[in-house]
Amino acid sequence: MKKQVQRRIGIMGGTFDPIHYGHLVTAEAALGEFNLDLVLFLPSGTPPHKDARQVTDAKHRHLMTVLATLTNPHFEVSRIDIDREGVTYTIDSLRLLKAEYGEETELYFITGADVVMELMTWKDSEECLQLAEFIAASRPGFSFGAKTTLVEEWFAKHGKKLHVINVPAMAISSTDVRERVRAKKSIRYLVPETVEYYIHKNNLYI
Ligand code: ATP
Ligand code: MG
Repeated sequence: MKKQVQRRIGIMGGTFDPIHYGHLVTAEAALGEFNLDLVLFLPSGTPPHKDARQVTDAKHRHLMTVLATLTNPHFEVSRIDIDREGVTYTIDSLRLLKAEYGEETELYFITGADVVMELMTWKDSEECLQLAEFIAASRPGFSFGAKTTLVEEWFAKHGKKLHVINVPAMAISSTDVRERVRAKKSIRYLVPETVEYYIHKNNLYI
């Protein structure tokens, strides 16, 4: 069967350590608002720097992302950041995805309000703007303040627009999920059931 041509693809990058309902509801909102054909989840590779918090092995983070997205026909998981050697930059992921899906495919990079503040500091940030549209999703605890205005002005300077969307508020973070597991508190209804089982079965975050 001929592979269906994808016209508009959302990209949800993250550590996903673990993936939670905040990620999923954000991806679903972007899918609907921007009429995307697909949202690709891109779990990050395992960072090489030793001083950073020990990020869980990519094998586990990838599998949890697959489990969490299983029931949504418009969600897929890509290994491109996991399988790349060394530090992975968004610019390289965008170039690879453009090459894979073709120039005519529009890429929409989805981030939460916290990440959008850092956009201007990314490697080859100006080229990132040319390769993808950027969607900033509201996230409880992170307001779109003066810094966002700066980012919006920077987009405008390059003839681009930062798309802001409101998603049903989910005050969930992976940090909080990890801390709850360590404290033997419930993570039910914060992550999909399959992810909850996977975490406990593999003794993650204890
Ligand atoms: P950690 O606490 O380990 O940083 P996290 O919950 O922030 O984890 P990440 O994997 O760092 O999750 O985030 C991936 C992307 O998802 C980022 O763009 C982030 O802003 C966004 N995101 C994470 N949680 C939410 C949420 N509750 N609502 C909206 N966006 C979110
Ligand atoms: Mg984060």
